[in-house]
Amino acid sequence: MTQRVAVLTSGGDAPGMNAAIRAVIRCGVSKGWQMYGVLHGYKGLISGNINQMTTRDVGGIIQRGGTILGSARCPEFMTVEGRKLAIRNLNQAGIDALVVIGGNGTQTGNYELHRLGFPVVGIASTIDNDLFGSDITIGVDTALNIALEAIDRLKVTASSHQRAFIVEVMGRKCGYLALMAGIAGGAEAITLPEVPTNPEEVAQTLQLAYEHGKSHAIVVAAEGADYNAAALTEFFVSNKERLGFSVRSTILGHVQRGGNPSAYDRTLASRFGCEAVEAIDRQEFGVLVGQLHGKIATTPLEEVINTKKELDMDMVKLARLLD
Ligand code: ATP
Repeated sequence: MTQRVAVLTSGGDAPGMNAAIRAVIRCGVSKGWQMYGVLHGYKGLISGNINQMTTRDVGGIIQRGGTILGSARCPEFMTVEGRKLAIRNLNQAGIDALVVIGGNGTQTGNYELHRLGFPVVGIASTIDNDLFGSDITIGVDTALNIALEAIDRLKVTASSHQRAFIVEVMGRKCGYLALMAGIAGGAEAITLPEVPTNPEEVAQTLQLAYEHGKSHAIVVAAEGADYNAAALTEFFVSNKERLGFSVRSTILGHVQRGGNPSAYDRTLASRFGCEAVEAIDRQEFGVLVGQLHGKIATTPLEEVINTKKELDMDMVKLARLLD
């Protein structure tokens, strides 16, 4: 019988992580379990920073971005010794199961804990949306809306000055955020890690935009694209004379992570958190809780970490039709 469950957040923080922590703690308490929070992700497991949490400890956090438990990158956890130490600390604290909230790297580490025999459940959370096993992950909706707000604002200034703007959005090697922000923001061109970019074509698209009487031209560039903001700006600077126009570039970076979670992220995270507790109650371990085809679902961590999530090429086609 499970009695003591711990939860941690790891990797890049994502808006909605707090809502997931809250749901895990409250659903666990409602089952009569003792609930624990691990501070600073895997680092806290290794240092034994595991503290009991009550329903009250997660009050007033659902609307806050970031994570009250803190997060950290932890190279020591990449070693077997580090992970064995983590398990020793979990056992010492009498923890029966662990909920791990995070993205790809985090779930890879989680799978390693599972392989060492510790009962774990993962929750899909990353603004990059690059995690197999969930069509959408916690934080994506908020990050997307922040990018969109920035694009809308840049459009205003772009129109006033008849300037072309490049906006770089996060997403590591996944173009989801850039693609969706580009479509929703009405970008003239989008560069993606999954699709090779011809910068001449981008320049031609911008040129045509002006010729067709558009007052602004926006390129949304994914940070992991072959032509991200830096590479694209370099291309335009080197070819300024020939192309006849210049561009301004804005890198959104971590601004995208910092917002208050949207209603969508809060509800998604609440559903994921409760389902993680249900999975533990069913003794279903070594799985990731995510959303597939609109329904909450679990996928084995082994499959999650060994399968690449593909970008929807129909959305790429749609973006091209609409530019
Ligand atoms: P995001 O992509 O949203 O930033 P993430 O969870 O992918 O989040 P990472 O920095 O890749 O973030 O991973 C977080 C932590 O997970 C790492 O610091 C490390 O402790 C652990 N981790 C990553 N990869 C592995 C691995 N192969 N084996 C064990 N642990 C890992």
